[in-house]
Amino acid sequence: MSFELPNLPYAHNALEPHIDARTMEIHHGKHHQGYTNNLNGAIAGTDLEGKTIENILLNLDMNNMAVRNNGGGYYNHSLFWAVMSPNGGGAPTGELADAIKKAYGNFDAFKEAFSNAAKTQFGSGWAWLCVHKGGDVTVCSTPNQDNPLMPGVKCNGTPILGLDVWEHAYYLNYQNRRPDYVNAFFNVINWTEVSARYQKSK
Ligand code: MN
Repeated sequence: MSFELPNLPYAHNALEPHIDARTMEIHHGKHHQGYTNNLNGAIAGTDLEGKTIENILLNLDMNNMAVRNNGGGYYNHSLFWAVMSPNGGGAPTGELADAIKKAYGNFDAFKEAFSNAAKTQFGSGWAWLCVHKGGDVTVCSTPNQDNPLMPGVKCNGTPILGLDVWEHAYYLNYQNRRPDYVNAFFNVINWTEVSARYQKSK
């Protein structure tokens, strides 16, 4: 069994004007496909073949850079596409809203904390909203294609929302203006999907 590039759940241009079609084409079709192919190459013939991506990452040998980078890249982008929607934006409701309120006081303070994590991650990486057993949520960031599932990563928990802040995610439309891209992301967050992931992982 090998990993396959998941289909985008919407058209390449569906997230415009917040994320442009050309960026989505290259990001999904080239970058994510590349991580997928390289992950398959890295695990072929090893005892990782046939395992789920979550299992591979939770038990990862952090010195195995091919699986760390490409397994992370495979998982992170699969999450990223799923937590965006052309009908996104707004704010969560229900238990996830309550957990965010408990941790940050209100949605705007959470938005500021998440945005700050995304804007201040030096170089390439990701910002995350994670859930912990019992239902508490935290915000953090990781470099490169690391993620909170990996052993020893200080930013831990189960990621339920992720924002890619690699330049390939925004440079065509935003150039060096990462903060504008981060602000725009809030218009496409699929809170229904994030809430479902919260319920499943809390
Ligand atoms: Mn990316």
